[in-house]
Amino acid sequence: MSAQLLSGKEVAREFRRRVRTQVRELVGKGMPRPNLTVIQVGDDSASTVYVRSKVRTCEKLGIDSAMHKLEESVPRGELVELIHSLNADTGVNGILVQLPLPSHLNAAEIISEVDPARDVDCLHPANVGRLWLGDSYVTPCTPQGIIEILAHYGIELKGKRAVIIGRSNIVGKPLAALMLARHATVTLCHSRTVDLPGVAREADVLVAAVGKPEMITADYVKDGAVVIDVGVNRKTGAEGEKVLVGDVDFAAVEEKASAITPVPGGVGPMTIAMLMVNTLRCYEYQHGLRV
Ligand code: NDP
Repeated sequence: MSAQLLSGKEVAREFRRRVRTQVRELVGKGMPRPNLTVIQVGDDSASTVYVRSKVRTCEKLGIDSAMHKLEESVPRGELVELIHSLNADTGVNGILVQLPLPSHLNAAEIISEVDPARDVDCLHPANVGRLWLGDSYVTPCTPQGIIEILAHYGIELKGKRAVIIGRSNIVGKPLAALMLARHATVTLCHSRTVDLPGVAREADVLVAAVGKPEMITADYVKDGAVVIDVGVNRKTGAEGEKVLVGDVDFAAVEEKASAITPVPGGVGPMTIAMLMVNTLRCYEYQHGLRV
């Protein structure tokens, strides 16, 4: 069996098109453009690539973006002061603090300074709480992107056994909340899970969010399972070239799965598309267009 390819790239294109149309309509009615403001601390190269891609996508969709790049050594107080000034700026609809932060800054503490109404990443404790209570203000970008891929391809979660490998605050845990809300029976695995391949083989829908290149081999996959690969890992190819691979051994697993997301072109494009959706959503709340 060769698995159906779940193209996040295509689904993301559709979401971007919708956001671009909505922004155009708002501006046509004399409304201001939505604004997403990004804070980057330090020069982490992967973060720089992600931030550039977010800013570029904003430009394409008619969303204004602003960027605050701070020195790696910025004192906590200075960063918090910047966040508070953005919280008070009515022209700023979404605030994103690019992670990871340098080690002298506690990410959880910093995120909790962001106005929950502008928390486009859905990482503020108030928004995380609302997510688990089933009353979301916004939903987290990567997990929501996964839900949208499954919905687009008509893959039902109700009654299914979902196994998520990885329990981070940005992927695994919030994805568990979203899948649970859609009536999946969810198992969340991590580095201390005993017999991980055995647990993974129980999955109708298997999600890998581990950060270990091609760790999930065919041995982890039940025949006919749907496999979602969140991992983004840089690896040196056979001829010394840099290649991007996921957490799943794609070639081996696609023989066994009924459907699979590729890397690149799977979950990755959805994350930024959902960020655009959330920026527009925060804008709508702030302008009384959504309650
Ligand atoms: P984290 O490093 O925060 O979390 C990794 C998780 O994997 C942890 O829960 C850890 O367990 C678990 N883990 C690590 N090793 C093993 C193992 N051998 N067996 C079982 N579990 C293990 O990663 P993130 O959630 O931030 O990211 C995961 C991957 O997804 C990365 O490759 C990242 O680049 C990618 N990513 C992609 C995005 C996209 O848009 N496509 C967005 C976000 C992330 P424990 O908790 O016990 O330590």
